[in-house]
Amino acid sequence: MSYDADLKLFIDGNWKSGEGRDTHCVINPVSGSGIADVPFATPADLEEALAAADRAWPAWRATDVEKRAAILAKTGDLLRERAQHIAAIMTQEQGKPLAEAKAEVIGSASMFNWYAEEIKRDYGRTLVRPTGQRSIVIRQPVGPTATFTPWNFPIYLLAKKIAAALAAGCPVISRPPQETPGCTGELFRALADAGIPNGVAQLVHGEADLVSTTLIASPTIRKVSFTGSVPVGKHLMKLAADHMKRVTLELGGHAPVLIFDDCDLEKTLDMVVPQKFRNAGQVCVSPTRFYVQEGIYDAFLKGFAKRTARVKVGDGLAADTSMGPLANARRPDTIEALVNDAEAKGARVLAGGHRGKSGYFFEPTLLGDVPNNADIMNQEPFGPVAVTAKFSTFDEAIEQANRLPFGLAAFAFTENGRRANLLGDAIEAGMVGINSFAISMADAPFGGVKDSGFGSEGGKEGLETYQVVKAIHQA
Ligand code: NAD
Repeated sequence: MSYDADLKLFIDGNWKSGEGRDTHCVINPVSGSGIADVPFATPADLEEALAAADRAWPAWRATDVEKRAAILAKTGDLLRERAQHIAAIMTQEQGKPLAEAKAEVIGSASMFNWYAEEIKRDYGRTLVRPTGQRSIVIRQPVGPTATFTPWNFPIYLLAKKIAAALAAGCPVISRPPQETPGCTGELFRALADAGIPNGVAQLVHGEADLVSTTLIASPTIRKVSFTGSVPVGKHLMKLAADHMKRVTLELGGHAPVLIFDDCDLEKTLDMVVPQKFRNAGQVCVSPTRFYVQEGIYDAFLKGFAKRTARVKVGDGLAADTSMGPLANARRPDTIEALVNDAEAKGARVLAGGHRGKSGYFFEPTLLGDVPNNADIMNQEPFGPVAVTAKFSTFDEAIEQANRLPFGLAAFAFTENGRRANLLGDAIEAGMVGINSFAISMADAPFGGVKDSGFGSEGGKEGLETYQVVKAIHQA
């Protein structure tokens, strides 16, 4: 399958490339070889995009909601029609199996369709006042928004931001990651083909620091939305603070999974193992720290290792591949160092543990008896490694689950309903999945607590992050 991507910037309704711009080499992680060059935005491109967003905002916020919704719905329909083509580009840029890439495109389409409907029900509030007086509370678009998104779900994480922002009436300028310019470009092609007006949705590939410092400092930009690592999130929040810009930060996690001895063990294993190795573990809500009640710990490890052996690692374009390579050259280096450190501190390597011979592959890996002082128990691995340890009591499990400064997702498996209720209350996380990994969908708020950031994406809460509140009082 050839790499059929058209790598360009999209500024003020025009596709741009060449013209002396610097380029960045896009790598296929299966081979580690270059497949294309993406043009990077110059400072003049960024100024042009800012000026276009400034011009486009008054008309877009005033556009009838039915018309805005129709453009979003059409974008969703086009993404669905083009899913196979876009997925093939994504797999070659990022590595995930084709079926996962296609599911991501379909999920992104749902975001556009859901916000196309939700914005029609964005009612305000009328306060109770004496006869003849009115006090109303309305929400208005915050204004042009800069988005910065990562490579692990290149389209879905972008769609979550821009579908909500555009629905709310905010133009967007988006800087996708340099690893995946082709598939993210297709999202803007769908928007363009759906009739998005010039300057309302703009795409600026580019050097991360140049783009973020320029956009965040501009008075045109009223809101910054970032998904990625905690250190970069903190850095962008500091930049935003200098200019009093609102921020939404969806940062890393280190999801605990509490496996109680009253769970349905076989069913639980059938769910957790594929989930761990989905997208080679490069998922901010990937189940990572498995705390297993002592009576079933050995059986859990045995069942986990047996299922791990069945994971078929290879090129994501091959039909039988269930796990592809990691997305970039940094990942196998990081994972290898974390596994070696854990082993040196007493962990047992029960499956995998090694990098591949070519490209950016790393074996699906299971670690047993991992001590709390191992780096991998404290830093998000963002790779195909399951980390396990045992616990005996409920309180001990909660203490371990809440031990880290992160709080994005947490999971638990138990057939005891009362315990499930208590878990939901006690775990410090933005999302809790009990006997389920289905925590990310268009109608549900997704976001973290503590170092995992703040602000929600998805649901009506995701729309509100692109709005400001105004109270109007009339006597
Ligand atoms: P990184 O911190 O270098 O980059 C993370 C993301 O931020 C990338 O998409 C990058 O393009 C972007 N970025 C980096 N510097 C930026 C800047 N100055 N302005 C704007 N954007 C900037 O990390 P990485 O090596 O790509 O990934 C490492 C870690 O990042 C992972 O271990 C994981 O913890 C985290 N991560 C989290 C998510 C998530 O979904 N929350 C996604 C990707 C990576």
